[in-house]
Amino acid sequence: MEKNEITVPFLDLQQIHDGIADELNHAVAKVIRSGAYILGEFVEEFEAKFARYQHSRHCIGVGNGLDAISLSLRALGIGPGDDVLVPSNTFIATWLAVTHAGANPIAVEPDPTTHLIDAEKLQEAITPRSKAVIVVHLYGQMPDMARISEFCRKRGLVLIEDSAQAHGAEYRGQRAGAWGQAAAFSFYPGKNLGAIGDAGAVVTNDDATANKIRQLRNYGSEQKYVHECLGFNSRLDPLQAAILTCKLEYLDQWNARRREIANLYFSLLQDVPSLVLPRIVTGSAHVWHLFVVQHKSRDAVRKILADKGIQTLIHYPIPPHKQNAYAMNQFPALPVAERLATEVLSLPMGPHLTDQQVSLAAERLIAACKQQPALATSAATPL
Ligand SMILES: *Cc1c(COP(=O)(O)O)cnc(C)c1O
Repeated sequence: MEKNEITVPFLDLQQIHDGIADELNHAVAKVIRSGAYILGEFVEEFEAKFARYQHSRHCIGVGNGLDAISLSLRALGIGPGDDVLVPSNTFIATWLAVTHAGANPIAVEPDPTTHLIDAEKLQEAITPRSKAVIVVHLYGQMPDMARISEFCRKRGLVLIEDSAQAHGAEYRGQRAGAWGQAAAFSFYPGKNLGAIGDAGAVVTNDDATANKIRQLRNYGSEQKYVHECLGFNSRLDPLQAAILTCKLEYLDQWNARRREIANLYFSLLQDVPSLVLPRIVTGSAHVWHLFVVQHKSRDAVRKILADKGIQTLIHYPIPPHKQNAYAMNQFPALPVAERLATEVLSLPMGPHLTDQQVSLAAERLIAACKQQPALATSAATPL
C-alpha cells in the first residue's frame, strides 16, 4: 500500500533517538560496565523514578505490557472461574491477560464517541461471577475514573488500569495507578514512553500487591532459591530500564508536543463533515498516544493518503472477539466495536512531526474526504 515515498511518517523512533543519542549510548555503556544484568540498580532507579512520575508508591518493572496486566490479575487473586469485564475495542493483550490467568473476559462495549468504557455499560455487563474490571486508557485518555472506581468499590470489584497508552495521562489531576488497585504499563518502543525492545511495569499504591508482583515476576522469589509462590520470569531488563530512565526526562516535553499537534489537527480538521474527530472527556488530561479519527469510507481515505505519502495506521482492524484466537468462545454481537474497527483511522502523531508535516497530513486528509462524498455521513450517528 505504502509504495510511494513517505512524507509524513506515522512515527519515527530513529529520529527521536538521534536527538538524544549520546545519552542513550552512555546509558547502555553504563549497564555493560556495571555487571548488573538482572534486576539491580538500573531497574531500581527506573522503578523509583517512574513511581514518582505516576505519583504512586510502587513501581515494579516487568518484561512487557501483557505481563504487567497478567501479573496484576494474579497478584489481586483473579483466576479460574472469575469473570473480568474488559473493553470490546482494545488491543488483544487486555483480553489475553485475563484468559492466561484462567479467567473469562466479558466484553463491554465502549461509548461510541470517546471509545472508552463507561460506568453505565459496566453496570449492564456485570455477571454474578464478575470479580474485576480492566479499564483501558485508550489512545492516551482516561474515562470518568471517579465514577468507575466508585462503581467497582461498591460492588467489591478489583479495578485494574491498562495504561499501556497513557503514561502521564490524568483524570481530575490524578494519574493512572491512583484509581485502580494496579495500573499496567507497556514500554513497547512505539508507546509515549518506549524502550528499545520489550518492557513493562506495574504501578500501585498497595504494599501487598507490590510485594506479590515483585515475587511473581521473579520465580516467586525475593530471596535467591527460596520460592514463595509459583512465579514467572518477567523481569524488566536493566538495559531497557537505563534507556527508560533516560527517556523519562523527556516524557513531559514529548507529551506536550503531542498536545500541540492534537490542537493543530483540531483547528485544521474542524469543518470536514464526513470526518469524526476525537472527543475529549471532561476532566481528562489526554496524552495523545494516538489521534484517532473516524470515517465511513476509512479504507478508501487511507489508500488515498498512502498514495500521497501520509502514513496512517488502524487501531485496531479486528476486535478481539473476532480473532481466531477467541473462536472457541461464544461472544454476543458487539456492534460498536465491530463498527469502530471499520471506521477508525490513526493519523501521524508523535514528537517527530513538524507543524508543516501535520498541516500537510491534514490538508491531504481533507482532500481525501472530499473525494468520498457518497458516504459523507457522520460516523457519530447512533446505532
Ligand atoms: C501495547 C499495549 C499492550 C501490550 O503491551 P506489550 O508491551 O506489547 O505487551 C496492552 N494493552 C494496550 C492497550 C496496549 O496498547
